[in-house]
Amino acid sequence: QIDEAKAAASVDNLRSPICCILGHVDTGKTKLLDKIRQTNVQEGEAGGITQQIGATYFPMDAIRQKTAVVNKDGKMEYKVPGLLVIDTPGHESFTNLRSRGSSLCNIAILVVDIMHGLEPQTIESLNLLRDRKTPFIVALNKIDRLYDWKPIPNNGFQDSLAKQKKSVQNEFKDRLEKTTLAFQENGLNAALFYENKNMGKYVSFVPTSAHTGEGIPDMLKLLVTLTQQRMAEKLMYLSELECTVLEVKVIEGLGTTIDVILSNGVLREGDRIVMCGLNGPISTNIRALLTPQPLKELRIKSHYVHHKEVKAALGVKIAANDLEHAIAGSRLLVVGPDDNEEDLEMEVMSDLEQLFSKVSTS
Ligand code: GDP
Repeated sequence: QIDEAKAAASVDNLRSPICCILGHVDTGKTKLLDKIRQTNVQEGEAGGITQQIGATYFPMDAIRQKTAVVNKDGKMEYKVPGLLVIDTPGHESFTNLRSRGSSLCNIAILVVDIMHGLEPQTIESLNLLRDRKTPFIVALNKIDRLYDWKPIPNNGFQDSLAKQKKSVQNEFKDRLEKTTLAFQENGLNAALFYENKNMGKYVSFVPTSAHTGEGIPDMLKLLVTLTQQRMAEKLMYLSELECTVLEVKVIEGLGTTIDVILSNGVLREGDRIVMCGLNGPISTNIRALLTPQPLKELRIKSHYVHHKEVKAALGVKIAANDLEHAIAGSRLLVVGPDDNEEDLEMEVMSDLEQLFSKVSTS
């Protein structure tokens, strides 16, 4: 089985990277998510985009469709199977997270309102990303608010900009320069994505509009390119489990449940799991693994699909006993046949101090 895991762990067999979105309030984080998620009703669930617990999964087919307009030369490579985007922008558990090698966020989108430039929470987010060494891109959102902007829905940014009046192009240049300078003052070198010659050294600005959809193809292309180039190693399948508690919720008929993001590995019904609790470690057995019904079946009375087994990366709801005091941001471990439950309990609880220091400083 180890050989099998080794064979599977290659750069040709990558798991889906996990993407979070953060930034100052009102910059358009929610709106951007809505816009990328937007499914074409006539095509059913466009390219198989699925709503998950706390996340949305974009299989590569959907991303291929959505990036076609900026991939006319067909040179873009699609090696990762898809992209898992965490739905709750600026979610507390992201800020709560232990800093030690968490995979809840492989890549981030930092959203900045192009009309406002840097704002207090932009700087907070910047520091957070830097502390975690999380690669990120900056969406310069709301370009449609540049005076006299003529939208071309869902277009690539460069083409849209080229078709604007000189005065619009100048305003854009002006605002870009100001924001670039402000980033520099905060110790960060950034460049417009198509002028960025060194993605390792410079962060890319990608201008977007969550209203017109312009620049969103560029943003998706950049996310995919960046994860494939910079993170192939991290995205190989591991036999090891990586799982994080996102939220603790009481659900009618299920009792207290936890929403988790499974970043790597496999979870099975019946697994013995261990996580941090307010009154000490929690050890319990998975009673049910649940994901939402596919969109088209939303009318069905039962809200969830049950799974015997789920594989990374995805968002899933876990029903089990004794979850009342589980802590968002905690790691979740599975007790394997050769593991000592108490050792694992000690291991997760060693994160606790960090969890709380993060809570109190955020
Ligand atoms: P969040 O707090 O970052 O999640 O921001 P929201 O997504 O809730 O957006 C805040 C406000 O900005 C809402 O009124 C949105 O309609 C508006 N907004 C978001 N994106 C854009 C955009 O690209 N263009 C324009 N004109 N307005 C936007």
